[in-house]
Amino acid sequence: ALDADWAERWVRRTADAIADAKDELTELDRQIGDGDHGENLDRGFKAVVARLDDAAAEPAPADERTVGDVLKLVATTLMSTVGGAAGPLYGTAYLRAAKVSGRVQIDPPAIVAVLEAALEGVSSRGKATVGEKTMVDAWHAAVDAAEAAANDGGSELDVLRAAAETADKAATATIPMVATKGRASYLGERSAGHEDPGARSTALVLGAALAAAL
Ligand code: ADP
Ligand code: MG
Ligand code: MG
Repeated sequence: ALDADWAERWVRRTADAIADAKDELTELDRQIGDGDHGENLDRGFKAVVARLDDAAAEPAPADERTVGDVLKLVATTLMSTVGGAAGPLYGTAYLRAAKVSGRVQIDPPAIVAVLEAALEGVSSRGKATVGEKTMVDAWHAAVDAAEAAANDGGSELDVLRAAAETADKAATATIPMVATKGRASYLGERSAGHEDPGARSTALVLGAALAAAL
């Protein structure tokens, strides 16, 4: 089962992956947006890591930390440090995910519930549906794949692998799409031919969740 230490590794690995991909994400956003997605997320996740480091320096609290505690810290930090569309979208995703992961250990069905909650957070905040060339495309595909893997009796790793691999493919699959939500929609048909930066960053987030469990 996955615990709060896994959640912390997930978040730290996400910060590393975002830092490594910062220029790539910014370049994707330059093509169909305003060229700040990499900067936005890198600033946010660096602030998250700083807060995790502060927490690690404090004496351990009497109550055991949960996955939800870690995800809530991510949510509040992203909401206060990341502007634009991605801050509130990811912030709401982590907040909803935190609400369903208040347990110390989470199993395959609970992983599905966490991902589902994140998708609901993004969807309720941004009102985008599948096929509008946004991060919803990556989250939605990941939830479906994770659910299928869990229903097949898959392990935590199987579920996380299904989510990560499917999100990666879904991000690539946004390339030919025409954006109808977010800044990229201002380009209309000209948004086709470029990968959506938020779908790519979602694939990085979910890839980090898998890597943290290996
Ligand atoms: P901004 O567009 O404000 O500069 P970012 O560049 O950080 O914000 O994030 C852009 C990403 O946010 C897009 O690539 C897309 O995936 C996502 N996005 C934008 N609007 C929406 C929406 N309404 N619903 C879901 N995702 C969205
Ligand atoms: Mg942008
Ligand atoms: Mg912006």
